[in-house]
Amino acid sequence: MNGPLPPMSREQSVPVPPAPPGPANTVLGLSRAEATRRLAEHGRNEIQREETRSPWVVLLGQFRSPMIALLLGAGGVSALLGEHADAIAIGAIVVLNALIGFLQEFKAEQALLALRSMTAPRARVMRDGYAVQLPSAEVVPGDVLLLEAGDVVAADAHLLEAHALATNEAALTGESAPVDKAARPVAEGTPLAQRTDTVFLGTAVTRGTGLAEVRATGMRTELGKIAHLLASTQDTKTPLEERLEQVTKTLLVACLAIVVLVAALGLWRGHGWMTMLLSSISLAVAAVPEGLPAVVTIALAMGVRRMAARHALVRRLQAVETLGSATVVCTDKTGTLTTGTMEVREVWGDNSHAILFAAAACCDASLGPDGKEGTGDPTELALLRAALTRGIRREELERDRPRVAVRPFDSETKRMSILRADGALYVKGALEVLLPRCRNATVSASRAASELANRGLRVLAIARGEGPEEENLELLGLVGMADPPRPEAVTAVAAARAAGVRTVMITGDSAETAQAIGRELGILLPGEDAAERIHARVTAEDKLRIVRRWKERGEVVAMTGDGVNDAPALREAHIGIAMGRTGTEVTREAADLVLTDDNFATIVTAIREGRAIYENIRKTLVYLLVGNVGELMLMLAASLVGLPLPLVPLQLLWINLVTDSLPALALVMDPARAELLNRPPRRPDEPMLGAAQWRAILLVGTLEALMVLGVFIWADPAHDVDRARALAFSTLVFSELLRAFAARSTTRLFWEVGPFTNRLLLGIVLFSVGLQWGLYELPAARELFGLGALRPWELGLALALGFVPVTVLELSKLMRRLSLRPRAEAC
Ligand code: ADP
Ligand code: MG
Repeated sequence: MNGPLPPMSREQSVPVPPAPPGPANTVLGLSRAEATRRLAEHGRNEIQREETRSPWVVLLGQFRSPMIALLLGAGGVSALLGEHADAIAIGAIVVLNALIGFLQEFKAEQALLALRSMTAPRARVMRDGYAVQLPSAEVVPGDVLLLEAGDVVAADAHLLEAHALATNEAALTGESAPVDKAARPVAEGTPLAQRTDTVFLGTAVTRGTGLAEVRATGMRTELGKIAHLLASTQDTKTPLEERLEQVTKTLLVACLAIVVLVAALGLWRGHGWMTMLLSSISLAVAAVPEGLPAVVTIALAMGVRRMAARHALVRRLQAVETLGSATVVCTDKTGTLTTGTMEVREVWGDNSHAILFAAAACCDASLGPDGKEGTGDPTELALLRAALTRGIRREELERDRPRVAVRPFDSETKRMSILRADGALYVKGALEVLLPRCRNATVSASRAASELANRGLRVLAIARGEGPEEENLELLGLVGMADPPRPEAVTAVAAARAAGVRTVMITGDSAETAQAIGRELGILLPGEDAAERIHARVTAEDKLRIVRRWKERGEVVAMTGDGVNDAPALREAHIGIAMGRTGTEVTREAADLVLTDDNFATIVTAIREGRAIYENIRKTLVYLLVGNVGELMLMLAASLVGLPLPLVPLQLLWINLVTDSLPALALVMDPARAELLNRPPRRPDEPMLGAAQWRAILLVGTLEALMVLGVFIWADPAHDVDRARALAFSTLVFSELLRAFAARSTTRLFWEVGPFTNRLLLGIVLFSVGLQWGLYELPAARELFGLGALRPWELGLALALGFVPVTVLELSKLMRRLSLRPRAEAC
């Protein structure tokens, strides 16, 4: 309601469909064939900012970690000393590890690239005489762009037509006030900021409509010219990745100390220094979960792909993690919580024919031939359908009384008017906006409006005036429209509530309508404060204030938006969500998440996925660390009591780089479970590994170490160390592999999670168990790994012992549940 009114635009003829902004009939745009030719000639319309990594770079990157360098060095030393078998084996394991890492990272990168193309900017252009929407990258010089408020200009283009057009050129000039644009040519050599006859790539249309012919695309545009000045805006590391890097670093220091201790003890006991060097390097590899970054990337990429399949496109990776800790979701009502398919239920006023006639005369939407579907604002389509039942057709209306001027609907002004050739001004909008401009304002109209709104109907006031000004109008009456809640939104609101996420409705509609719908949806339960949960007659500035207020209270806020002016609120929110269908390009660009179905339920699904990703990363991290701690303690304990080392370097490497990283890969892709929404959100500052996680890591790690040490001692290493090692090695591998099943959930038992809900994990574990067994069958492998001869029953024993940690973990879940139950019942 505040802010200057957009000036009226004068139009000569009116395009009946296709929907606005309609081009002058003479503008046909390029032909498809010509556009294809020009695309080949001029290249894609893209600003190159970040380099895409070739597969080779990704592959080589695998060898860059210090750990791998250390290993390669060790391999080299072994080769020099004539230990060729060791050297080859180390080399093979390093290559295998690099390949696994490469595949993970490459797959993740592909997934993200695919996603980026889905969220790529779009443009509307004329092709073969039709308005079409296409990816901005396909815009070529000579194309005719169709512009309207909320668009991001897709190329540098010369205006052919402009109606009340203004753009925000902050991206280019830094000036944030909108610049008025017109089709009048300016002198050659005018500075950029004053070239009012041109619109520039990357700038936003803040109001009005226009047609413009593309002059330059891609790197030849003004933005392209300064692109090299812009630092790559996208930070590739998410906070989560940074925090994990920190964890890894801390671990590294702790492990190094232990490794040095083990090495010193070994040397003191008179083991050869070469053996000790190899052992300590392998132990270091064993101790540091260096596969972790890859695991995180994969978890994020897979999660993002899953979300995309559920209509939520992630534009910024950081958002995924924040989503899981969201505590407040501020969401639009119309079309998001409701179906957005409206229907006129009631017409209030003396002459309902005149009301619907005036309503139809003030519309931009157009119905299709069947009189049901159409293009444009759903509110207007509902009006047009109602008018049609009384024989009022918009096409005839446009023919008989062509429009002279239009003041388009704007959610800030909350009204719209069209001046027609009959001299009448047809106006529709919110009642309280129109009332002060009406000469026949009555109390009964306000009362009728409240009555309709209290039934959850969307109310529009219809008025008529003389001449272009919106004053001294005659109020004809009211129209009440039903916009039923989406059935899935009711469930989603309840699910969000159970998950400790508050749903706040934001709408331009009246407070009464909003509250009636809010009650229907369960956003507002009896006894709850409406002011907390429902914001009505909201403007874009209000949205920004609402976000800020929740943030000040320490909440993690998600905010949806679709309008031209919503971008600041979306940026301010922790998670900005844009509407993919009805939203403007500007909001899409400001958003972290784009809903391709504009559906509130999708937000809740995305929150669940966000939580799942976090959980998956955490449990995979714990899974890996238990193994590492176990190995470290095993080696340390053995050297403390003066035993030979239970595992040779190659065996350690094998466990860490092959048998551990495969189950981790499958674990981190665990599907999201519904139970993730049955608990409050994680606090944003909660550490990834808290006290509970560390306790589990140390306890289970110790258990594994003691068990393997026991079996090693039992096999009598003094008598035949190779055989004892073979037994210890297999016991450890089997128990690691099988423990993956218990790692899937910290509360639910193996069969509750569902043995077949992660088939990849099942497959990988079976495969790896087979692989491990196979090592003993292949003489060459046995030689390489220094495996002593094990009898089948001994291998069977190793497998049986392998079941111990997983069983202990499952039992402890059960015990915890039993001991928790009485307390849970007590409160
Ligand atoms: P929301 O999208 O949250 O429902 P809008 O900004 O679309 O809110 O609408 C706010 C108010 O503006 C509505 O309650 C109605 O009174 C009025 N309004 C909505 N659409 C139109 C339109 N096409 N023409 C005129 N007035 C409208
Ligand atoms: Mg709306």
